[in-house]
Amino acid sequence: MMTVAEALRLAAKLTPISDTPRLDVELLLAWVLQKNRTWLYTWPESDLSDAHRQRFEAAFARRRRGEPLAHITGQREFWSLPLAVNSSTLIPRPDTERLVELSLLLTESSPSGAALDLGTGTGAIALAFASERPGWHVSAVDVSAAAVSLAEQNREALGLPNVKCFTSHWFDGVSPDARFDIILSNPPYIADADPHLNEGDVRFEPRSALVAAQDGLADIEHILARARNFLSPGGWLLIEHGWTQGEAVRAIFRSCGYQSITTEQDLGGRDRVTLGCLSP
Ligand code: GLN
Repeated sequence: MMTVAEALRLAAKLTPISDTPRLDVELLLAWVLQKNRTWLYTWPESDLSDAHRQRFEAAFARRRRGEPLAHITGQREFWSLPLAVNSSTLIPRPDTERLVELSLLLTESSPSGAALDLGTGTGAIALAFASERPGWHVSAVDVSAAAVSLAEQNREALGLPNVKCFTSHWFDGVSPDARFDIILSNPPYIADADPHLNEGDVRFEPRSALVAAQDGLADIEHILARARNFLSPGGWLLIEHGWTQGEAVRAIFRSCGYQSITTEQDLGGRDRVTLGCLSP
């Protein structure tokens, strides 16, 4: 027998692998029981059925081995949208919501337009943007066919008709005649020697979504150079990057001829998104 309160007390065993052990165990248990976290606090003495206890113990054991919570539950919320997640893509992060927020500010007075999300992964950025801008057409591309099918699955589950997901290595598969009013990307930007790659969730995410050559700047450089040919006059390009890369990324924006270049911070106050536009 195991009660809800007893299950939650197992959080202590997650301290070596997680910064948020209590939250992790609450989310795992809520997922197994298909209840929300408030329910767990309302019914601490209720007994888990045998089937629920077994599923919880199996999920807990995976988490204890360090597997990301999102891979165990197969889901992660982004911009309040429930997204399916698997090991073929990056797990959406709250920092990336900052990029969505900025894209919405820039398009506030435009009821329609065309947007492109490069390296869409789960579709997080494209789907969040599309859900807030129903009059816009959003293209979501990824080099990985598995990522594109996951993004498409999420698009369908959210019922967003204004998003088109397709396979493309950055701009290679985008029609050369296409023009976008805004281009968004969270590309790989970690240097391959970064010790952070050996810790936590990133160990279970595809390296192709995390690591880029030239100290993490190679893909950003590639995108910035080519995006010029795909932006409408006055169009904006927004790129997520590492918190130490703001200056380097602004320099690339300048050398590619963009204007109104600024770097914005994430929720932790660290440089995270740089944007620039093409003069109208
Ligand atoms: N922000 C992620 C991390 O540092 C990396 C995401 C990315 O490379 N685009 O864990």
